[in-house]
Amino acid sequence: MSRASAVRFSHFLPSLLLLLAGLSAAYVKDLSVFFTSLFNVLPTLVLLLGGAYCAVYRRQRELFLMVTVYVAYFLLDTQTDFYRDHGRVREDAAVVFHLVCLLLPLLFSIYALWQEKTHLFRDFVARCAVLLAVGSVALGLEQSYPGPLLNWLAEIRWPALHGAWMSLIQLSYPMFLLGFVALAAQYWREPRPLHAAQLVGLLGMFWMLPQTFILPFTLNIMCSQVMLMIAAGVSHEAYQMAFRDELTGLPGRRALNERMQRLGRNYVLAMSDVDHFKRFNDTHGHDVGDQVLRLVASKLSKVSGGGRAYRYGGEEFAVVFAGKTLDECLPHLEEIREIIANYHIKLRNQDSRPQDDHQGRQRRSGGGDSSVSVTVSIGVAERQAEQRTPEEVLKCADQALYNAKGAGRNCVVAAGQNRRGAVRMQGAAG
Ligand code: GH3
Ligand code: MG
Ligand code: MG
Repeated sequence: MSRASAVRFSHFLPSLLLLLAGLSAAYVKDLSVFFTSLFNVLPTLVLLLGGAYCAVYRRQRELFLMVTVYVAYFLLDTQTDFYRDHGRVREDAAVVFHLVCLLLPLLFSIYALWQEKTHLFRDFVARCAVLLAVGSVALGLEQSYPGPLLNWLAEIRWPALHGAWMSLIQLSYPMFLLGFVALAAQYWREPRPLHAAQLVGLLGMFWMLPQTFILPFTLNIMCSQVMLMIAAGVSHEAYQMAFRDELTGLPGRRALNERMQRLGRNYVLAMSDVDHFKRFNDTHGHDVGDQVLRLVASKLSKVSGGGRAYRYGGEEFAVVFAGKTLDECLPHLEEIREIIANYHIKLRNQDSRPQDDHQGRQRRSGGGDSSVSVTVSIGVAERQAEQRTPEEVLKCADQALYNAKGAGRNCVVAAGQNRRGAVRMQGAAG
């Protein structure tokens, strides 16, 4: 699967919805007592629940992302509370705010990019050490040299780049920019829901900081939303692990079982199986076999007529047509069978890789690459009075698949019939 095809809008959807909800809530004026009390406790509540959730799944990276956001919230909340109660800012407000503007994007990006690779406990200690080191240096400087630190933070280093719209210190912008670029690159390299959530979370904080003292509760709302984005990313990935097949990206057996429980009265189930796949593996190797399975899955996932493909296991795939009749589905299954059989997969000759570029060019021009194709047999069954449960219908589809194999493979056979709509292809498999 190419990287571009692994990029999905659905990875961003939960985070974008949370961001939108946060933005709308932040602009609401005259909040009721219920909501003001809720927003006061929300960040702590989300940290506790989200933190426990991450701990259960042993996701330390996400736990530390939440802690980073919460520490920033805590520091700024002390300031906004003072501002709300006294009508003026505390004397250390500027230095604390600027420090958060600098360190929040920095720490958030570091934790977001830092994947758990070592032993969990060592990883935990290392992450704590980074948080403590950065925190204690910042605190030490703030306590000992508040004046020079403030001047250093607020200094306009690049007057040519300074705009009136900049409400954060100049240093904060390159920090956010670097964070965005690095997190976008990370998502591109590894398109995962969590990487998408981190990117949208950083965007949320970039929007939040300038509004901290302007819109009441922006801080509480956006920090909670960003922590929720991270938690939602973790649960999205947990869901994918349980319900998606890793090799092909199709929903797996568990997802099929769940789908079968809510199929309604009319539906059609098809079972398809790659022909002579053991022989194919023996001839071309397991890696090429995997490549072919991905390809078959990608073709099956595009079956027309409202069908949805699942990896049943091994080289077997199920296709579910909800609310359809057998006659409606057969042409679509026949079409997909033909598409797969006519598709030629290009292979580089794995055993005799060229020694150098010159030899490689010669081989390519001389047709050194080979192409392979596979076929699939499909058995299909419809819900009827005799087969009432999805399990029974699936069993019939499996029996029809067995008949399709018996009928010479590379064909579609419906339950109760010998062979239907099948077109014999030349050189069936391998
Ligand atoms: P038939 O036409 O009767 O289906 O013959 P077949 O060889 O395809 O049937 P069989 O069930 O005996 O072999 C299935 C093979 O599929 C065995 C196994 O090596 C291969 N296979 C199952 N899962 C995978 C996988 O994930 N990757 C690869 N590369 N091969 C797999
Ligand atoms: Mg099989
Ligand atoms: Mg097979």
